[in-house]
Amino acid sequence: MQIIEPISDMSQWSEMQRRQRQRIVLVPTMGFLHEAHLCLVRDAKTRGDRVVVSIFVNPTQFAPGEDFASYPRDFERDRRLLEAEGVDVLFHPSVEQIYPAGAQTFVEVERLSLPLCGSLRPGHFRGVATVVLKLFNIVRPQVAIFGEKDYQQLQVIRRMVGDLALDIEIIGHPIVREADGLAMSSRNSYLNAEQRHAAVCLSRALCKAERLFKRGEKSAAPILRLVTTELQKESQAQVEYVKLCDAETLDDVDEIGERAVIALAVRIGKARLIDNRVLQH
Ligand code: AMP
Repeated sequence: MQIIEPISDMSQWSEMQRRQRQRIVLVPTMGFLHEAHLCLVRDAKTRGDRVVVSIFVNPTQFAPGEDFASYPRDFERDRRLLEAEGVDVLFHPSVEQIYPAGAQTFVEVERLSLPLCGSLRPGHFRGVATVVLKLFNIVRPQVAIFGEKDYQQLQVIRRMVGDLALDIEIIGHPIVREADGLAMSSRNSYLNAEQRHAAVCLSRALCKAERLFKRGEKSAAPILRLVTTELQKESQAQVEYVKLCDAETLDDVDEIGERAVIALAVRIGKARLIDNRVLQH
């Protein structure tokens, strides 16, 4: 596995692969890898000839006061894990390269960035869209894989790719969970044993919502009530939002049509956890 830091080396590598008609698949990450990241990598290997994993903790997607400085990092461990998966390139650029002095150009996916996490993390999706577009321009992949755990992020990126006519196939990978249902996340490392136990309330609440939906409930109100009640049973959980939205536009819905998504964000201790479930007829 090659480790590439300079942007120019990354672009050169990609240019050579493209000339040799190799299909490049990119998996963007912020590192501190866990099994879910590795599932995305394995998916990537089935979708092209060369796999590039980027590790970049992107400062512009953290609001002031968020956990940019303390975000967990372990490059050596990440390197070993990716090497064992047979990844071709680990792209690890510096902040100074991605945001050169004087940088003032940003990508704003307007409406999709407003609700849910966007309303509580101002500028977050602008930072995400900007860095993802930069990674796309540097790595020039034909395919890029993102997790459905970050559902709004996936929608924002799909929209950006469509709106800017980028020739990149975007794949959404299903949420990968721990045995007890907790969605895997680098931020789960913030949880102590008691909080880790409490964190199962997110997936438990979503399962209950899905069961109610499958029994025929189509109205948002009773489903939202059920999820909120379930989360509030857990004394450690501080609910940030519970929403039922159209699965594409992310507008709130009162009735579930073809496809809706129930999305939630909950604080447990220092960790801000998100999870979601698509409800589909
Ligand atoms: P991160 O390093 O947290 O930015 O995540 C990198 C990629 O992995 C993103 O596309 C995430 O959506 C995806 N990802 C993280 N956790 C999970 C999970 N539990 N299931 C599926 N995808 C995930």
